[in-house]
Amino acid sequence: MSLHASQLRTLSARRVFRALLMAGGTSRADLARATHLSAVTVGKIVDEMLGRGLVREEETQPPGGSQSRGGTMGRPPRTLHLGGKRRFLAVELGVRRTQVAWVGIDGTPLLPIQSFPTPESVSDWRTKLAEMRLTFDGHADRMLLSLPGVFDAERGELICSPNLPWSEGRQLLEAAADAGGAPVIAVQEIQALALGHRASGRAADSFVLVDFGDGVGGAVMTGGELLHSPLPLCGELGHTGVHGNRRRCACGAVGCLETLVSRQGLLQSFQAASGSKAASWDDLRERVQRHGAEAWLLPSLDAAGSVLAGAINLLGIQSLVLTGDLPGLHPDIGRILTERAVQHSLIGRFGKLDGEVAPRRRIQGLITAAEDYLLQPEA
Ligand SMILES: [Zn+2]
Repeated sequence: MSLHASQLRTLSARRVFRALLMAGGTSRADLARATHLSAVTVGKIVDEMLGRGLVREEETQPPGGSQSRGGTMGRPPRTLHLGGKRRFLAVELGVRRTQVAWVGIDGTPLLPIQSFPTPESVSDWRTKLAEMRLTFDGHADRMLLSLPGVFDAERGELICSPNLPWSEGRQLLEAAADAGGAPVIAVQEIQALALGHRASGRAADSFVLVDFGDGVGGAVMTGGELLHSPLPLCGELGHTGVHGNRRRCACGAVGCLETLVSRQGLLQSFQAASGSKAASWDDLRERVQRHGAEAWLLPSLDAAGSVLAGAINLLGIQSLVLTGDLPGLHPDIGRILTERAVQHSLIGRFGKLDGEVAPRRRIQGLITAAEDYLLQPEA
């Protein structure tokens, strides 16, 4: 297979952009090393990015003197940073709250991140979002939007959102563009987390990321790229049936894993175990922080481990990344989930499964989702 020159250029530009996002500040020589591209190719891409105001170059004083490192003799070394005047409105539509951040091209929030309780209609959401946008002074280049549920990126349509049924269809994206005053680049929320994890620079080339929040879902990174499936249904681990579980799920099925290990599912089990219907998420968190994974929680962790093992067995990936509320409750929980996944998967018989609890890096993921827009050659 031969790649067209413009495809090659796009692939190389993505590598440079991702390396810059990962490194924070770096030199041209280090960029060439990190991307395995020639110094000439890196130079061309960087010059183009400089010309378009995506990158800024600063002279750096090397520690302990004026001896230059790398570059031409006598010329002080320069550090490249993603920068410039582009501004994005990064919006995370969550089941309980919608978070809004005003960010630069490197994903750094330029003002304190704000949020509002997610309302129950598209029009109320549009109104709230438009109000919040006005508190950020300036024009957004694009709105970067993360969405829960099953999102068809090709058609710009939210096909199914069990926890936010009002958001289904195309109206949400139209409302977002209207409220944000900018075109929208939308990404499914767990895919945004996987992109963000990749951007951290700490990720394996291939990993399965599973997030436990108001819903439970996964995303698969293979060979450094998101796995794309024929249907826009990928990583929906939360809607896998668990034997013996009679809880009804918002998707309409009975027994989904999500009803056990989402926030609501965990709270339901905790309330039943503690005999208090009034017990809150804060009560639950305090209890788990103090006592670790107790008997009321272990069967749910075991069920989650089995489902994770199914994914690991299918994909042949040995790096598991856990994010969100459940693994954040106590350090033991990530370990137990990984142990259960090892116990139930074939890799556990003869190989090694690396389990890691990681923070959610959704804004960095959203920035990565905008890379092709930012890097496309100007018409
Ligand atoms: Zn379900």
